[in-house]
Amino acid sequence: LQAALADFYLHNEQPEQARKLAEAALPLLQRFGEPRALRTARHNLAVALVKLRAFDAAHVQIALLEQMPVGDEDTRSRAEEMRELGEAWIAVGQAKEALALYHAERRLTQEVQQRAREAMLTELRAKYDADQQKAKVELLRRERAVQEQTLANQNTAHKVTAIGGLLLALCAVIAVLALLRMRQAHQRLRANQALLQVLSERDPLTQLANRRHFLAAMQARGAEPLTGGLLMLDIDHFKRVNDSYGHGAGDQVIQAVAKRLQRTLREGDLLVRWGGEEFLIMAPSLKPAHVQLLADRLLIAVAESPVSIGAEQQLRVTISIGFVCFPLPPAGLSLHWERAVNWADLALYAAKHRGRNRAVGITEAQAEDEESQARIEADFEGAALAARIKLDQVNGPLQLG
Ligand code: GH3
Ligand code: MG
Ligand code: MG
Repeated sequence: LQAALADFYLHNEQPEQARKLAEAALPLLQRFGEPRALRTARHNLAVALVKLRAFDAAHVQIALLEQMPVGDEDTRSRAEEMRELGEAWIAVGQAKEALALYHAERRLTQEVQQRAREAMLTELRAKYDADQQKAKVELLRRERAVQEQTLANQNTAHKVTAIGGLLLALCAVIAVLALLRMRQAHQRLRANQALLQVLSERDPLTQLANRRHFLAAMQARGAEPLTGGLLMLDIDHFKRVNDSYGHGAGDQVIQAVAKRLQRTLREGDLLVRWGGEEFLIMAPSLKPAHVQLLADRLLIAVAESPVSIGAEQQLRVTISIGFVCFPLPPAGLSLHWERAVNWADLALYAAKHRGRNRAVGITEAQAEDEESQARIEADFEGAALAARIKLDQVNGPLQLG
């Protein structure tokens, strides 16, 4: 309060009052450590002493003031102090002191301004640097973003390539599998077709080749004339078997006869169920000299022991055979297979006519051309009588009861 009052008195041109109050305030301010208030009080004291013309005492206070530390923030008020003190010196006519203070104040003000300029420059530079730094950081951030995007794009491209490759591989695998499946299906189809072919050419009752198979085999040889034996066989009075014992018994007889015939034949001979109770044998490697022996063996094989029908019944079965064997003496005649089958059939008819259970075969033929062959077919027995063909007979085993 004393310091503030001293200030008041000083500005109201009462320097004596101001001096007293300032001198009273100084020790208190020193004691309580108030550097700013202390400085103001001392300055007011110095101004008051100048105004009171106590120059020596004023110089003491001014020297003490100059010793006091001045912070950067106080330089402005320090300049004001100098101006105030300068005005006081002028007021008491001390131009020299005033001028010195005026110069000091100018220096101080310039210093302050210089410092302010530097501070501003530093601040500006710092701001510029910060902005530049920011821009750099932003640039780096963008660069990084671009790099990341590029990497992501590359990753995506790799993934797409990988997926594409995978799909392609998958397609290839599927295609290969489909191809394999198709091939397997094709093979199965072919196997089935072959099986069907076999089944369609096999007689279900006897498991022998059927007429269809024989025709296929013959068609495969084309116009090539036959060699070896051709025998047509027919069970005698078979209708009676059916009539007396039933159709099932008839079937059993057909099966039994088929087995007996098959047992008698050699490998390479073809036994065909021609139809009903008729069989056809083709023995391609048979020599004409041996055909009668084969016919004899066949007659015996069927007739020598009775065929069992069911558990109790026994039935004697005989067959008749018509045969022909190529090349036919004397000229070594050979025929197309269709004609050969026809001739064997004619010989079979002759065997039936002569009493059954026997074989009748054409062992010689004088028929080089188509016309003479057709004549033989037109009148078989007549041709035999006219010796255009020679028929040989093989009797079956004696029927006992
Ligand atoms: P032949 O001595 O003159 O040959 O007298 P046959 O009684 O055998 O004469 P035919 O050829 O006229 O009779 C054949 C009979 O065979 C007629 C038919 O009912 C019968 N038959 C044909 N196929 C089968 C068959 O698969 N099973 C049975 N059980 N009978 C059949
Ligand atoms: Mg018949
Ligand atoms: Mg018959």
